[in-house]
Amino acid sequence: MNKTIIISSILLLTACNEIPYSTITNNPVPIEDKSAPSPTTPPITPPIVDLGTGGLKVVIHESNNFSNTDLERLEQARVILENVLNTEEFKQKVLHFTYLGEETFVQNNGYSNLEVYNLIMAGAEQYPKQTPVNHLMDLYTELYYGSSGVIGYTNPSVPTIYMNNYYFSDYTPGEIAGNLIHEWLHKLGFDHDYNSTARRPYTVPYAIGYIIDDLTSKL
Ligand SMILES: [Zn+2]
Repeated sequence: MNKTIIISSILLLTACNEIPYSTITNNPVPIEDKSAPSPTTPPITPPIVDLGTGGLKVVIHESNNFSNTDLERLEQARVILENVLNTEEFKQKVLHFTYLGEETFVQNNGYSNLEVYNLIMAGAEQYPKQTPVNHLMDLYTELYYGSSGVIGYTNPSVPTIYMNNYYFSDYTPGEIAGNLIHEWLHKLGFDHDYNSTARRPYTVPYAIGYIIDDLTSKL
């Protein structure tokens, strides 16, 4: 078995096993613990009107520990993410996302598909603090060197998205884009089962991540 096959097998295994993005041994506050907003958390009211298509800018404010080559790939992922997010195809996939025959996401925080779409386009992060609607996906990234098992993680107390170089180094820009939006959707308050479950791929972070990855592969 050559190296390429081994790497492909590892990635396939990773995808199939649905390894939790936020699993890490020293992660003190997994974002999954924040699925139920505390009573003091002000409810956010999503725009209920259709905002049209697109209008979201992807901004990387921080990129710690990235080599110049890694930075180039991160920038490629940012451009892909911004382009795909603002397509009509992305909007239609979100609006018509289906779970068990119904147009809905799992663990959607009570939002319709259109509201989920509008929340994404609004770019108003909830964690680590509520930001206003500014149509900006604000990203703070950090590369770390870990072993297999965790693609990336974040937690509600920091803006940082931690990306594991074990995967980053072999990922396509589309896969990196899918990982970035998965973690960012946690910043909007969307959660998923910690362990692999039948419904987890239909949660907002997983499903949208897959949609980005899928649309990128068709570019
Ligand atoms: Zn996650």
